[in-house]
Amino acid sequence: MRIAVLAETDRSEPRVAATPETIKKFIGLGAEIALQAGAGAASGFADGDYAAAGASIAANAREAVAGADVILRVRRPSLTDLAGAKPGAAVVAIMDPYGAEKAIADLAKANVTAFAMELMPRITRAQVMDVLSSQANINGYRAVLDAASEYGRVLPMMMTPAGTVPAARVFIMGVGVAGLQAIATARRLGAIVTATDVRPATKEQVESLGAKFIAVENEEFKQAETSGGYAKEMSKEYQAAQAELVGAHIAKQDIVITTALIPGRPAPKLVSAAQVRSMRPGSVIYDLAAERGGNCELSRPGETIVESGVKIMAPLNIAGRTASTTSSLYAKNLLAFVETLISKETKQLAINWDDELVKATALTRDGAAIARG
Ligand code: NAD
Repeated sequence: MRIAVLAETDRSEPRVAATPETIKKFIGLGAEIALQAGAGAASGFADGDYAAAGASIAANAREAVAGADVILRVRRPSLTDLAGAKPGAAVVAIMDPYGAEKAIADLAKANVTAFAMELMPRITRAQVMDVLSSQANINGYRAVLDAASEYGRVLPMMMTPAGTVPAARVFIMGVGVAGLQAIATARRLGAIVTATDVRPATKEQVESLGAKFIAVENEEFKQAETSGGYAKEMSKEYQAAQAELVGAHIAKQDIVITTALIPGRPAPKLVSAAQVRSMRPGSVIYDLAAERGGNCELSRPGETIVESGVKIMAPLNIAGRTASTTSSLYAKNLLAFVETLISKETKQLAINWDDELVKATALTRDGAAIARG
């Protein structure tokens, strides 16, 4: 069995889909690896390290995919990237499938079996393959560091001979994987931390990390979690009540980190322009939802702007800022998933279409897009 690791064609994506460590594991499973030259360079992994782990280095994508049964990438490859791919090859990546019908049709046209890692079910067996969690965890950490370094004051309370410096107030909006790590990181840096979410289960999690929970806790709030553990889109009424409570709170915050997402929907707008203007000059808003439009009304995805003295940061691909760590974790997520696609007996690609992981993540099969409910 042959596995190809492709380089990213998007220059703003420094991550890579395999590390020398995962290459060794794949080889241990009986696979041969062809890595496109330079694929790991922007994440700090040199071709020489991959070669030492046992990979052969292919000069370009076409050479890497030739004869490959499995093709690994960080981002969804295009038809051009897949030129020369073997019919039925499994292509595994973060496919960003929502609203991407044309790109998925292209994958079908390439006659590959495409798997979207971000559709992995949030079940115990698949935790090791959970790319949303592995990346969001690091993003939550990074958001606090980035915001703290842009904030013109310190985070912990300091008692110095020259006077006492108050602790910064950090408010985390959305307590999923990224939000929980942001709470823990801001607490470690000595900030006074509060957090909000629409899912009731998060209250206890926030409190267990030593932060205070802020939310409108009405009947709708009690029902706000889907069976899959995600947030529901809240009613206009709930959003208004939440905005009022949160509005008064935001005015007193120094750093606001927003992480709220709803699968397949634009990010909910949680911080209005008026709320931004209510904050003290020098405060920072860090919008981790920028890729889905942002949680702050004034966020400009990919930019940092200053409004009434408040810095609003809305970076794209935050995972790329810590590319060595996020690549290592992503590569392990891929290794665990691809292992399930390989037969233990024959050591060949053997997709089990009855497996719930395959059913949940497959986007194309036999030259056609798979209809999703
Ligand atoms: P996410 O990235 O989809 O969203 C981030 C957070 O934003 C969520 O907590 C969501 O409730 C919140 N949010 C949405 N709308 C909001 C609003 N209007 N106001 C405030 N907050 C809002 O979340 P995630 O990090 O992917 O986690 C989703 C769920 O999956 C959580 O329950 C998490 O614990 C669970 N999970 C389970 C596993 C597992 O293997 N069992 C692994 C990881 C995550």
